[in-house]
Amino acid sequence: MSAEVFWWSGFLIALGGGAIVAWALFIRGQPKGRRRCPRCWYDMAGAVADDANAHICPECGRRIVKAGQLRRTRHFWRLAVFGLSLVVAGAGLWATPMLRAQKWQRHAPSTLLVMLADADGVDPISETWGELFIRARYGQLSARHRTVLSERLAKRFSAVQPSLGTLTLIHELRPGRSNALAERISMFITAWEKRDERIMDGDARVRWWSDNSHHAVAIEILGRVGSDEDVETLSTLLHSPSKPNHDRAAIALGRIGGDAAIDALTEVVADGSEQVALTAAVALALIGEPARERAEPAIAVRLTRTLGAEERVVLAPSLSVLRGEEAHISIPLMRLFIEGRMGVELVGWEYVAGYQFIGLLREDAMPSLPLVMSYLDDEDPARVDLALTAIARFVPVATEALPVLDELPAKPDANPSVQFVISMLRRPD
Ligand SMILES: [Zn+2]
Repeated sequence: MSAEVFWWSGFLIALGGGAIVAWALFIRGQPKGRRRCPRCWYDMAGAVADDANAHICPECGRRIVKAGQLRRTRHFWRLAVFGLSLVVAGAGLWATPMLRAQKWQRHAPSTLLVMLADADGVDPISETWGELFIRARYGQLSARHRTVLSERLAKRFSAVQPSLGTLTLIHELRPGRSNALAERISMFITAWEKRDERIMDGDARVRWWSDNSHHAVAIEILGRVGSDEDVETLSTLLHSPSKPNHDRAAIALGRIGGDAAIDALTEVVADGSEQVALTAAVALALIGEPARERAEPAIAVRLTRTLGAEERVVLAPSLSVLRGEEAHISIPLMRLFIEGRMGVELVGWEYVAGYQFIGLLREDAMPSLPLVMSYLDDEDPARVDLALTAIARFVPVATEALPVLDELPAKPDANPSVQFVISMLRRPD
């Protein structure tokens, strides 16, 4: 029986018990206009007062001097005791999981944890936040809760000190759509751009967008919140002469979806260079059914006038995925795409970032795990962070990374996220 069941059943039983107590003592025995003997509760509606203005109960003989006593509320003590025992039993049930395990957070309802998770002292390895992240990872946290927590984390973004770590945590939570969040992340991006003290226009901006890995993370989050402005920026990036730039822009649009993104992608499939057209086709496949009506003819036409093997390998499966014919091939398709196309330009760490970016670190990407693990020792803390996030994404299949991770906390300047990732990997069902 899950902890949540204990919590709620205990709570409901105690609540029911409380209601019974109240009913037994105050409601059930109300006189409701009746006049009754306060001792035996015999109905004395017809009783007449004697000379001394007193009533005599014909049933038990009690003499009632004050008329008010005839209108007393009867208390059902046995029922009240029964209700009280339910309150005690419910409270016991409610507390059982907590008593059995020291970490009460593990057994607390998510609503309570979300209420307790403090915005100012966000510490991903605190018990409360850690539990929430684990629940998010295992799909046990509602979209509403994930969004609320993300918005709270995003409040830490300021123009003074934008935090990549915070961005990564928001990314981990996979928040739902939220204007507040989109606004904050846009602020984060602006702050980073300013920090680089470069004039961000035209190609410089385009390059900057694709050169900064935290942007990949921001784009991926925006893929779930996507503002019109983001779609517009990314649509412009589609026409960048640089291949990594337009590739990333296309995939980001594929994650965002929506009419504007579909239109921009369909346009380059129809008229763009072969390079960007292929990526756009994959992105449209990512969007899937909502893109079908507009994208299908464009990809089909492109396929008829494309002769190269590589193009066919990308276009044909994209079309199938879009038509919903072979949705299961979408992941191998994306992987083929990265390894066959992006892979030739990305080496090592960037390759890991690419996987991370496109969200492919799942079971089918297991062969990449040793490569990802090799970055746990990197001198650059940002790379270690990303490798950790990547490993966390393999959950629950990356347990073979555990022995390596177990060594890490012993090092003097060990990354505090290590323990957190270990706890995620060790999470039993
Ligand atoms: Zn009586």
